[in-house]
Amino acid sequence: MIEHSPAPLVDLANLDHLWFQVTGTLCNLTCHHCFISCSPKNHSFGYLSFDDVKRCLEESKRLGVKEYYYTGGEPFLHPEMVPILIETLRFGPATVLTNGTVLKDEWLVALAAAERESLYSLEFRVSIDGFSAETNDPVRGAGTFERAMRGVIRFVEHGFLPIITAARVWPDAAEREVVDQFVAMLQARGYQRPRLKILPVLRLGAEIERTHGYGDAERVDEQMMRGFDASQLICEHSRIVTDRGVYVCPILIDSPDARLGDTLEEALGPYPLRHSACYTCYQHGAICSNPSATGRDKQV
Ligand code: SF4
Ligand code: SF4
Repeated sequence: MIEHSPAPLVDLANLDHLWFQVTGTLCNLTCHHCFISCSPKNHSFGYLSFDDVKRCLEESKRLGVKEYYYTGGEPFLHPEMVPILIETLRFGPATVLTNGTVLKDEWLVALAAAERESLYSLEFRVSIDGFSAETNDPVRGAGTFERAMRGVIRFVEHGFLPIITAARVWPDAAEREVVDQFVAMLQARGYQRPRLKILPVLRLGAEIERTHGYGDAERVDEQMMRGFDASQLICEHSRIVTDRGVYVCPILIDSPDARLGDTLEEALGPYPLRHSACYTCYQHGAICSNPSATGRDKQV
């Protein structure tokens, strides 16, 4: 057993980004790498009500939040997701992390209109983990590649430029080829200037079964943080609201010690990077932010 030195504390510099675990751990899919093991039956975290979201949006304005993120589970399972996003666009830019499989055209018509009328942008990230059914479906489930791609094209047809997010479920050496294949596939299907974000796999939840968890030595310590730009870590500028309180980040909601309080105000303190997942954030940085621009060369 390795003796760990005390975990380094990371201060919340500013609460710039606020996340909402809007559908808790409920998802229509059961991906084998899901780091919080979401599924149609995982009720560990439930839906946030529209009133809860509104209350947090008001509180967040007072605290200087600049940007909002919606995740789950699958956010579009929430019966009030469209009104929630329309309301959010009164407060700031919003991004939704979706699997793209349950969209309706009428929702996208309403959201496109709301974005046109808003000062702020509305972004969508669609998770697809391979450039073909053969590479994606073993991880995300049978038929999910075609269903997600129909979602991508729907977004494009309604004037959005979705960010395709893919977890790195391939060997490092294959990265360039995988990215090229992704871009070629998206262009062939009509998304001419695709945005692609490759994410490291978090070895938590269902992913432990698919591959393995973290080793004992995979921790962040004080020495590693010397000279490190902590703004690369989402816990330095974000918090996430769930139906069970406010947590430090979207990655650790399964860890009871990551719950920081009932309200945003109570969740503004520092957090010790004591979890192995922090090591992945440390190695890869900014894993939850949007890519800064459109185009193939800015993605990975
Ligand atoms: S990875 Fe995303 S789409 Fe897949 S089960 Fe988890 S929340 Fe659902
Ligand atoms: S998992 Fe990442 S974002 Fe969450 S507390 Fe650790 S370093 Fe911060």
